[in-house]
Amino acid sequence: MKRTLLDAIEERPLLGDGAMGTQLMIAGLEQGNSGEVWNLTHPERVLAIQRRYVEAGSECLLTNTFGGSRIMLNRHSHADDAAAINAAAVAIAREAFGGRDGYVIGDIGPFGGLMEPYGEFTEAQVLDSFREQAKALVEAGADAVIIETQTSLEELRLGLMAAREAGAACVIGSMAYDVTLDGSTFRTMMGVDPERAAAFMQEHGADIVALNCGTGMDMARARDAVLRYLQMTDLPIMAQPNAGQPKLVNMKVVYDETPAEMVTGVVPLLQAGASIIGGCCGSTPDHIRAFREAMDHFQTAKAL
Ligand SMILES: [Zn+2]
Repeated sequence: MKRTLLDAIEERPLLGDGAMGTQLMIAGLEQGNSGEVWNLTHPERVLAIQRRYVEAGSECLLTNTFGGSRIMLNRHSHADDAAAINAAAVAIAREAFGGRDGYVIGDIGPFGGLMEPYGEFTEAQVLDSFREQAKALVEAGADAVIIETQTSLEELRLGLMAAREAGAACVIGSMAYDVTLDGSTFRTMMGVDPERAAAFMQEHGADIVALNCGTGMDMARARDAVLRYLQMTDLPIMAQPNAGQPKLVNMKVVYDETPAEMVTGVVPLLQAGASIIGGCCGSTPDHIRAFREAMDHFQTAKAL
């Protein structure tokens, strides 16, 4: 039997994947449409993207289910397809490994709104939505579930709870930080700093603490986050920063950090103690290929 994800990262760091959203756009998804529905309508396009990541060296793939919760899908009139969309996504990611060992991480993104008393959703609605998604991902065979791009501890707690209840073999909590205006530090949009987040995730049953996306969170800032997590927890850490800053070019958001630029941050991240490294918005199979080379060199040098 294949080793579990948690066993595998005890032995050596693993390489994650790059962005899905920006790749779906390149494959023809129109702004504002649901990329998750493609798991049912255009599975071959999702598969092609994930195959490119595997060919580049990814050992962990996040399922194409960032917006795959009932609440998110309801905005595209696909709420009742939630279970099928998530199950299909796990099968597609598994197929992308083509029989190779690899870890399918079921992806749960934010529900995309605010809970009472600030917003219209009750805690019960959000929890039910996460429960349904987590259950579908786990039952379809996901090796782990990640609750990602989180900014609020209240929402994160519900996601972690749903993943635990679904029986996920590994639960990952992942925060999105923004660098403050004066550039001195970073915290989530809801004001959560990494120390608080790490302690909270550990307390609420995460097996891996992570960060992804965010504003201004380049590879160097991601390394700072890893070091700050380590002051609060001994859980393994995963980091998936964006490929630089988003810029608006011809009314399109582009991320302009090249693979050669971004890869300079890989070894410092590994040295800081990250166990899984990947990329978020704007990162491509070329970024992941560069990461692969850097990680392989790092491992070989360490073994000598
Ligand atoms: Zn992102």
